[in-house]
Amino acid sequence: METQQEKEILRGGQFLVKETKCEDVFTPEDFNEEQKMMRDSVIEFNDREIIPHRDRFEAKDYALTEEVMHKAGDMGFLGVSVPEAYGGLGMGFVSTMIVCEYISSGTGSFSTAFGAHTGIGTMPITLYGTEEQKQKYVPKLATGEWFGAYALTEPEAGSDANSGKTTATLSADGKSYKINGQKMWISNAGFCNLFIVFARIENDKNITGFIVEKDLNNGISLGEEEHKLGIHASSTRQVFFSDTVVPVENMLAGRGEGFKIAMNALNIGRIKLAAACLDSQRRITTIALQYANERKQFNTRISDFGAIKSKLAEMATNCYAGESASYRAAKNIEDRIAMRQAAGNSHQEAELKGVEEYAIECSILKVAVSEDVQHCADEGIQIFGGMGFSKDTPMEAAWRDARIARIYEGTNEINRMLSVGMLVKKAMKGHVDLLGPAQAVADELMGIPSFDTPDYSELFAEEKEMIAKLKKVFLMVAGSAVQKYGPELDNHQQLLLAASDILIEIYMAESTLLRTEKNVKRFGEKEQETQIAMAKLYLYNAVSIVEKNGKESIISFAEGDEQRMLLMGLRRFVKYTNYPDIVDLRNAIADKIKAENKYSF
Ligand SMILES: Cc1cc2nc3c(=O)[nH]c(=O)nc-3n(C[C@H](O)[C@H](O)[C@H](O)COP(=O)(O)OP(=O)(O)OC[C@H]3O[C@@H](n4cnc5c(N)ncnc54)[C@H](O)[C@@H]3O)c2cc1C
Repeated sequence: METQQEKEILRGGQFLVKETKCEDVFTPEDFNEEQKMMRDSVIEFNDREIIPHRDRFEAKDYALTEEVMHKAGDMGFLGVSVPEAYGGLGMGFVSTMIVCEYISSGTGSFSTAFGAHTGIGTMPITLYGTEEQKQKYVPKLATGEWFGAYALTEPEAGSDANSGKTTATLSADGKSYKINGQKMWISNAGFCNLFIVFARIENDKNITGFIVEKDLNNGISLGEEEHKLGIHASSTRQVFFSDTVVPVENMLAGRGEGFKIAMNALNIGRIKLAAACLDSQRRITTIALQYANERKQFNTRISDFGAIKSKLAEMATNCYAGESASYRAAKNIEDRIAMRQAAGNSHQEAELKGVEEYAIECSILKVAVSEDVQHCADEGIQIFGGMGFSKDTPMEAAWRDARIARIYEGTNEINRMLSVGMLVKKAMKGHVDLLGPAQAVADELMGIPSFDTPDYSELFAEEKEMIAKLKKVFLMVAGSAVQKYGPELDNHQQLLLAASDILIEIYMAESTLLRTEKNVKRFGEKEQETQIAMAKLYLYNAVSIVEKNGKESIISFAEGDEQRMLLMGLRRFVKYTNYPDIVDLRNAIADKIKAENKYSF
């Protein structure tokens, strides 16, 4: 049952149909003292324990990963979001994001080990465990005495996670289950102490989750370490269960609840993965910039060439956008958790519902930031030229490490389709009113456009209107597609992917604009002039992506007059009155970071 207070804050997905005031978004500039202290201590840890040892991580020193994980446990970093009653620090969701972000940029190996343990390896117990399960396991996991792993994927069950063949069979005395099956790609498998294992009981429709201690004398064996493209010192192995006996009290939630657990654990994992990519983007940008400021060709610093300035500006802008959107969503989640707790929900229930509410935003962020970090590393290599291709510079490993983020925690294809699918479902359930606004857009298309000259003298006036128009594109495209295909829409994947790209760009561009607008109001326009340029540049790029995807979609499902009308609407909704000078914007952004010799926002 939704409380009155909850109704007043934006629900997940509602960003699309409700205007958000800049005062209502949380930004990295809003970090409080406690959050800043946490950030600084994680940065110091990363600088001391991880970055200097990059070579050892690259040389597949799994023992080092484990050792540094213990040290992270000693610092309390593994239990940031775990309630104090279970040995954690009991901090809010934003703090969890900060730790994920700043601990992750040294190497993808540690980032993955950290994420697999604190996220999918621990959260299923904190979110779904019984009191006894939490008392028994969570304090050990929160302090780093034990490490967790998450065993969902199987050789034949990847994206189709509910199709696993691993079985759990109840013993004759009803006291235990025997688990049999094979799990694949299990992060932390080499050094963990327990697995969250998903298995099927009899012919159940849905799988069931179990906490399984790693006792190699109990029918558990491991495959060799996988040889991977990147994240070299992250332990990834197959895990085999052969008549592994698990007491009935180790079942998580109820029978058949495993798929729900798996999906909710992944929701949280997705937004944390976005955070984990952010500091990498920042470091890659800074390192590439410093190289470009040093490297001379044709008697010129390469950072003075327009071609390189353009790359640096885009890298910085995407990073700034990722930060803006990640912390906006993180605070929404934190606030919703707090509201639910204030309304009497347990921490467990409040956290579950809080994150579930923003599952759309979690998917959006996972896709957007994982692709941005890959692109950033790719451009980083390009800026380093031949040296970028060498193992002796950090770009090569950054590029390889970034690649996995598009695959795990649900592939980006799956997350794209999920984001639109979840939104449509929310609309059907009446949680987000898409139909009314979609109808209003349809009516607008039938009407005569206004020929008034708008007043865009105020900062961001045109940009805000553009965001509102991009939302109309989504409503127009998705609304018409739902009308045309109904429940069959799921079978039109290319359409869903295009709609998702529109949705992603709207959220990212709007978050960037709102952060900047908020900061202009408190720090002044002069102080924020580069951020203003980044917000405008991001939006311009977003408009192009929306236009391309909108056009493709419309042509795929509409014909004749309907097609002409929708395409006309699209043209109207992606048209600037005053086009920003993108070359100027990029130059201004590049000049600022060149002068500071680092990503400085
Ligand atoms: C380094 C690494 C660490 C990992 N760690 C863990 C872990 O700790 N625990 C764990 O349980 N798993 C883990 N995984 C597994 C990971 O989550 C899966 O690899 C991922 O979910 C994709 O599954 P798959 O590899 O079977 O690919 P598939 O599902 O076979 O997908 C192959 C391609 O087909 C596409 N595809 C699949 N289904 C559809 C569809 N319905 N519509 C359109 N396209 C589709 C995918 O997007 C992808 O492009 C890890 C994987 C790696 C590589």
